[in-house]
Amino acid sequence: MDIHHPDTGQAYFVDVGGDGAFDVPYRSLLPQGIDNLIVAGRCLSATHFAHGATRNMAPCIVTGQAAGTAAALAARGNAPVAHLDVADLQKRLVADNAFLGETTETRQRRTA
Ligand SMILES: Cc1cc2nc3c(=O)[nH]c(=O)nc-3n(C[C@H](O)[C@H](O)[C@H](O)COP(=O)(O)OP(=O)(O)OC[C@H]3O[C@@H](n4cnc5c(N)ncnc54)[C@H](O)[C@@H]3O)c2cc1C
Repeated sequence: MDIHHPDTGQAYFVDVGGDGAFDVPYRSLLPQGIDNLIVAGRCLSATHFAHGATRNMAPCIVTGQAAGTAAALAARGNAPVAHLDVADLQKRLVADNAFLGETTETRQRRTA
């Protein structure tokens, strides 16, 4: 993670641990209090600390793909983006060759 100190602007790096992978939950793309707005990239909701990992270009690209896909699915289903079934979104992203690691579906299958 590439974190910029809020007062000094000084950058410092933190190892996220494990294999370096982390999830970005769909809810972090959905502004609270409004059903049909979705954001991606640097606008997603995260703490200052977590932003050290999410505001970089690669996460911006993948959250952009997720947001665009979610908007298309919501439009097709005529439902607000906030009401979208996350498992359906994950399935569509995997079909489009996005790597999600473990999805809701594979987790359910593993723990069944
Ligand atoms: C100086 C600097 C160096 C960086 N270096 C790195 C790096 O080395 N590696 C890395 O991974 N990340 C780096 N980053 C971070 C990363 O580049 C950004 O966080 C990321 O590009 C943000 O992507 P985004 O799509 O959320 O927003 P942006 O890339 O800012 O895209 C938003 C777009 O929306 C447009 N826009 C704004 N308002 C409107 C409007 N009203 N109507 C239509 N369009 C509008 C803007 O013109 C812009 O094109 C750096 C950032 C900065 C500022």
